[in-house]
Amino acid sequence: MADIIKLLPNHVANQIAAGEVVQRPASVVKELLENAIDAKATTIKLIIKNSGKTLIQVTDNGVGMSTTDARLSFERHATSKIRAAEDLFQLHTKGFRGEALASIAAIAHVALTTKQENDQIATQIQIEGSKVITQEPIVATKGTTISVKNLFFNIPARRNFLKSDAVELRHTIDEFHRVALAHPNIHFQMYHNGNELFNLPFANHRQRIVHIFGTKTNEKLVPVTENTPVVNISGFIGKPQYAKKTRGQQFFFVNNRFIKSPYLHHAVIHAFEGLIKEQTYPSYFLFLEINPESIDINIHPTKTEIKFDDEHTLYAILKSAIKHSLGQFQVAPILDFEKDANLDIPYTYKNKEATTPNIKVDANFNPFKDDKTFKKESNTAWESLYVGLATNENTSEFQIESEEVTGSLFTENEEIEATTYSTFQVQRKYIITKIKSGLVVIHQHRAHQRILYEQFLKQITVAEITSQQLLFPLEIQYTSTEIQLITELKENLEQMGFVFDAITQESIKLNAIPVLVSEKEISTIFNEIIADFQENVPETSFSQADKLAKIVAKSIAVKSGIALNSKLQENLVNDLFMCKDPNMSPFQKPTFTTITTTELDKKFL
Ligand code: ADP
Ligand code: MG
Repeated sequence: MADIIKLLPNHVANQIAAGEVVQRPASVVKELLENAIDAKATTIKLIIKNSGKTLIQVTDNGVGMSTTDARLSFERHATSKIRAAEDLFQLHTKGFRGEALASIAAIAHVALTTKQENDQIATQIQIEGSKVITQEPIVATKGTTISVKNLFFNIPARRNFLKSDAVELRHTIDEFHRVALAHPNIHFQMYHNGNELFNLPFANHRQRIVHIFGTKTNEKLVPVTENTPVVNISGFIGKPQYAKKTRGQQFFFVNNRFIKSPYLHHAVIHAFEGLIKEQTYPSYFLFLEINPESIDINIHPTKTEIKFDDEHTLYAILKSAIKHSLGQFQVAPILDFEKDANLDIPYTYKNKEATTPNIKVDANFNPFKDDKTFKKESNTAWESLYVGLATNENTSEFQIESEEVTGSLFTENEEIEATTYSTFQVQRKYIITKIKSGLVVIHQHRAHQRILYEQFLKQITVAEITSQQLLFPLEIQYTSTEIQLITELKENLEQMGFVFDAITQESIKLNAIPVLVSEKEISTIFNEIIADFQENVPETSFSQADKLAKIVAKSIAVKSGIALNSKLQENLVNDLFMCKDPNMSPFQKPTFTTITTTELDKKFL
């Protein structure tokens, strides 16, 4: 048999290796920013175009490279950071594998300009798909600029695999946040398509957090400090009352490197026990300093996991440090720790929240009200349920709960009228009504979700937008990541009836909102939307719309625990059975059940 094993050519090997290092533009951003930090830069500028798909450029004022090093830096396993395997246990740099530049150069058009302080002339190298195109001396200032163009130009499959610009930009911004948070002593700038997204001056940790996440963050932070022989902990946790359903502001840094650790995350959540609602997450920005010898940084190129020698001790220390801080905060909630007055600019939304909306265009709007035109389209299948029920059956044998209706969906002076169907409410949770064959028990919250969901979907798809104008535009502040997400959803939100006056880098301003929604629900709705979409934004506009309709329906649907008068009960029943799919809530949970007379009879045998 002939020999069949061949060594892969270098550029192919590099391309394969690149797959591990570079998944998306954000991976390139991470590697380039880390290299700049390792080069001791004090200012770093990131410029991207089309979310990094067409250009990622990082300019630093670090130590630069000699001409020889500049050329060598693109070789695989070329690194100035370790010389022997043992060095891995004393790592004080971000890089060490010598793989990033080689990998990036294998799958993009790369230009490098670099100059060391004492050199007269800078070096410029252009590489495309691992091939050096040009190398020449040029004039430049001290430091390094690397531009990465046309990512995955030679691997179309990978390029097609990239998500929408908005999604990729979000990943890129996340990566930028992580690096910038870990290094407040470096001035960072980020530009996207010519717009400045961030300009983060030299600062302390607290200021850096506030510069990134917005002024309102300042008052939410509680400092954490703990120094032990095992670990030094510093940083901030968010006050319990600001815990959000949204994940996203949870950061661990070990020796200034962002890491993910479900185990340590658990320690934090544990410390908050009893102070926050289930399914909500406090924000945290925690910096751990640990002897590099007692941790094992995963050798895998992009992994952000880390192994600690003594995880249990670390868990216990972290938990108690946070409990301690929370305790102090609880005892002395008035004391504002290290308050930085400069950051204390009032924000519009804080004032807005206190005022009740002065005007509503359609004050009498009742989502349960009989809409004759809509009724005509109703499904006949369900009408048969009622056949045989006399319409004058208006005496309920059961007491209707009489508490004031509190759901904002209902008008305050809604009158309790005689019902045409006998319905009654049990435990302020279920609506019971008679049908030909027995009883129907309706879950009020889920039923209302279904009704609203179908109404929203109808609005979006039929494109008959019904908005109510706000007297004063409503401004709500968000972090840039959240703004990013809202921008992605803008079109679908508009179809639902939200009218944006403006979306800036840190706030949204609404002129009008859907009729089905009340002004005071808006911030909750947006928080829910952000929480639900944070993990993943569906690619197609339809599934986006569908998800939005579900979230908003869930958020504004009448909750369990709310008393409904008989008119509202009746409308709920009617509207549910006019739905296309009344059986299930939009989240596929049953909306009602039936109990037949036969089943009842059996109970009395
Ligand atoms: P690593 O960071 O793991 O060493 P890289 O491929 O990221 O590997 O970089 C290779 C080498 O190129 C680095 O070790 C460093 O010597 C040099 N280098 C890369 N980027 C810069 C930069 N911005 N400034 C100075 N030197 C750099
Ligand atoms: Mg590197």
